[in-house]
Amino acid sequence: MFAAKCKADITLLSGISDEFTVMTVSPRPLPWRSLVGGVLALLFPPRCHACRIARPSHPDRQLCPHCLDRVMSYSGPYCRCCGRSLATGPGLAERLCGDCLRTPPPFDSARSPLCYGPPVSTLLHRLKFHGDTAAARVLAGLGSSEPLSCDLIIPVPLHRSRLQSRGLNQSLVLARRFFPAERDKIVVDLLVRQKKTIPQTGLDGNQRRRNLKGAFAVARPGAVLGRTVLVVDDVFTTGTTLAECSRTLKAAGAAQVHVWTVARVDEVSRSVRPDDVPTGKTAGERTE
Ligand SMILES: [Zn+2]
Ligand SMILES: [Zn+2]
Repeated sequence: MFAAKCKADITLLSGISDEFTVMTVSPRPLPWRSLVGGVLALLFPPRCHACRIARPSHPDRQLCPHCLDRVMSYSGPYCRCCGRSLATGPGLAERLCGDCLRTPPPFDSARSPLCYGPPVSTLLHRLKFHGDTAAARVLAGLGSSEPLSCDLIIPVPLHRSRLQSRGLNQSLVLARRFFPAERDKIVVDLLVRQKKTIPQTGLDGNQRRRNLKGAFAVARPGAVLGRTVLVVDDVFTTGTTLAECSRTLKAAGAAQVHVWTVARVDEVSRSVRPDDVPTGKTAGERTE
């Protein structure tokens, strides 16, 4: 009986914390429970996970109404190869963009459920630079992943030294959050980052490609031979990193390589204001 009461108290407290974990509803709530809950809610009011100022729209939601309103889905029609959004119109669902017609990228398709911009950019920043893994859970609630048919899911790897300083690989955290039913396909030691690259910010297209040339390697080429691979990253900006990963995997014998990112920088989300970019970093820095 005592244990049951304690459990109920714990679930109540977790329901009003910043994490907003699932609140268990007791069939017969005790009056003092709601009193304690009310006092704690006054002392530690739930805050929006993105702006950290306003209250969430609902105890079960992690974002305030203002931040929720700013979430933009990345929807079609888009180029069936690189995923770039195309002008609307009939018959565009299977079209290729001009870039893909001229120079097909090394990956077979690229998809993203969300546009890059606040609050998505804020949540990705919190995950990446502050180790806030709860932000990945919030993101997974904003944009669902399409059903994918692949043999392997490979998060874009970090260089060993960067992984040590950062403490986590945000791409791995996101892959686990967005593809929970396919966790057994996620492999982290197959594609390795063998070269410590400089930040991509300020580099033009050719410099970016040179910077990343030879950056990745496949540890066991036999494991990707003839397989369909999904490469997962946080943001698709220019696609240079994802293209280099795809090139490396194809060279090792992968039959198909598809890329998937939580968000994408594109025409529709290019209006990101400077004050929306945390700590003065640009979108390009966040692709590493
Ligand atoms: Zn907010
Ligand atoms: Zn394209």
